[in-house]
Amino acid sequence: MPVDPSRLQVVHYPDPILRRKAATIVLNDEVRAVARAMITLMKDEEGIGLAAPQVGLAWRLFVAHLPPGEGRKITDDPSTSQTSPMVYINPVLSAPEGPVEPFEEGCLSLPDIRGTVFRPPMITITAIDLEGTKFTQRASGLLARCWQHEMDHLDGVLIIDKMPPTFRMRAKPILKELEEEYESRGHGFI
Ligand code: ZN
Repeated sequence: MPVDPSRLQVVHYPDPILRRKAATIVLNDEVRAVARAMITLMKDEEGIGLAAPQVGLAWRLFVAHLPPGEGRKITDDPSTSQTSPMVYINPVLSAPEGPVEPFEEGCLSLPDIRGTVFRPPMITITAIDLEGTKFTQRASGLLARCWQHEMDHLDGVLIIDKMPPTFRMRAKPILKELEEEYESRGHGFI
């Protein structure tokens, strides 16, 4: 069934789409339209990244946009400093570097939940852009973290899986509320 990009919405935990491993996609006009709609949604929700499963699609695609200068380090690949949002199709991460670092992350699919997640501070990404061109970037700081967070979404992994037990305990009542909200909308559980 074709996707109507104008109807895309950010889905919340515990929607089962967030737990599915997303599939590799072929770039076409539908993918381009969805990516553009995701950029708009990401901006509306004031996120710095949004993955396709978060709008109900099990596709290996995410968008990211860091305001200029924010969380960037001098060692970053200059190609990562563009001010326009980036689209990553069928992304692959490689060459993580440095000891893992803690940072408090949030997620548009887990409203009101924040928790520490440990990740390597530097990493390389290879993906396809909206023109179908393969590109590689290397980054550190917030952008490297954003890529890893969004890649987790493509594999059905959420920050609640990676938080230390104390944060998970704190998140429990909020998760319960989200589960009730999901159920009350008539989705039921699969
Ligand atoms: Zn997220």
